[in-house]
Amino acid sequence: MRALLINPYTYDFAAYNFWSAPIGPLRVGAILRQNGFEVYLIDCMKVREEKRKDDGRAPFITQRVQVPPPLSGIQKTFSRYGFSRDELAQALLHVPKPDIVLIGTLFTYWYLGPKEVSELVKSLFPKARVILGGLYVTLCRQHATRSFKACDLLVPHNAIWLLYEYIAREFSIKLPFTPSAFDLDSLPYPCFDLYPQIPFVPLVTSYGCPFRCTFCATPFLFPQTAQRSKGSLLDEVSHWHTLGVEKFVLYDDAFLYRKEVHAKPILRALSDLPFKLQLFNPNALHARMIDEETAFLLRTAGFREVRLGLEGLPRLISPHTDGKLAERDFERAIDYLKRAGFPDDSITAYLLVGLPFQHWKEVKHAIDYAATFHIRIELAEYSPIPQTPLFDAFRTHARYPIEAEPLFQNNTLFPFSWEGFTEEHLSFLKAYARDRSA
Ligand code: SF4
Repeated sequence: MRALLINPYTYDFAAYNFWSAPIGPLRVGAILRQNGFEVYLIDCMKVREEKRKDDGRAPFITQRVQVPPPLSGIQKTFSRYGFSRDELAQALLHVPKPDIVLIGTLFTYWYLGPKEVSELVKSLFPKARVILGGLYVTLCRQHATRSFKACDLLVPHNAIWLLYEYIAREFSIKLPFTPSAFDLDSLPYPCFDLYPQIPFVPLVTSYGCPFRCTFCATPFLFPQTAQRSKGSLLDEVSHWHTLGVEKFVLYDDAFLYRKEVHAKPILRALSDLPFKLQLFNPNALHARMIDEETAFLLRTAGFREVRLGLEGLPRLISPHTDGKLAERDFERAIDYLKRAGFPDDSITAYLLVGLPFQHWKEVKHAIDYAATFHIRIELAEYSPIPQTPLFDAFRTHARYPIEAEPLFQNNTLFPFSWEGFTEEHLSFLKAYARDRSA
């Protein structure tokens, strides 16, 4: 039996490989491989290798295209990121005919690429079973069911058993290895070895988050938290290191939750390894959970930078953030990190902007506050995400039909622009944050 994994190309107004990797399909590929499948990979999200930064990030290859009909009238540059349809067709001709094809999805407003890919695959391999999984399928199940006619099965991220049952039924085989997607100690390592080179490997040490920020999908995606054992994580790090990998990217949402029994033992063990790692955390760490020892251990374990969420400052937007961060927690965290040896420009505060009825002056105030610490400041533009309380409460207040058409959930479109926070305000704030950054 042969399985083909495809990380589809996408369309957007802007995209950059900020340490993203198709860890979901690669994990499923590893499970199938343990069940005796031959597994192949086509990753359409190619980057410009000559522009890759030392830390592993890189721009995608890009081609400008027309905006799709639902977005007609939007005066912004729209592009395809990664392979063209023809390049993918060529690549498909060079893989052995698959029995099943697994296509991953990510952001809800990226569904057009996967849709084209699924139709192309079905036209070239009519007998193959085409299976769609990932975040978009989980968050927009009904839209996906209506839109992806070329797919034989949709698998939300929390229902991998649907895939196991489907394979057993369609191919009359019993899979001997069917782990839960949430049992982090039983899952095989994602099959990054299918790439000719591995610039970095994402690590997942936990699922879920104890907080309930109303804009965030994590509580819906992972109603319970789960943490991985230190031994299993160290084995994986050593495995990749023997293949030459030095850069690792933490994908956790709440790495520091229950830190005394989880993060601290892991960080101590990483610090004691006989080789040096470079660690990055594109998802913010919780500032309130950083104590003096944690800051020191982050540094000795190999974190090259620390990103913190500043969106929870109570006087800013507390109704949406579960009150997870008080100013004094933030100030203390910065102080510990600097004393542990993190340079100013290796500490970044994320500020969430564009929330429903947020006023631009609140954000300017937060930028001024963060700037007093001489750290980097990055604005994270809000995307309305289905299945979140904030989406449900404000979906009718957006300036686009965000519920009917996921393309309008794109943060570049600034769906919750209003007279108190216009696109001009946003441009000003982006420049202002750059100026005031370390
Ligand atoms: S703390 Fe972060 S991961 Fe947790 S619910 Fe809030 S935004 Fe989501």
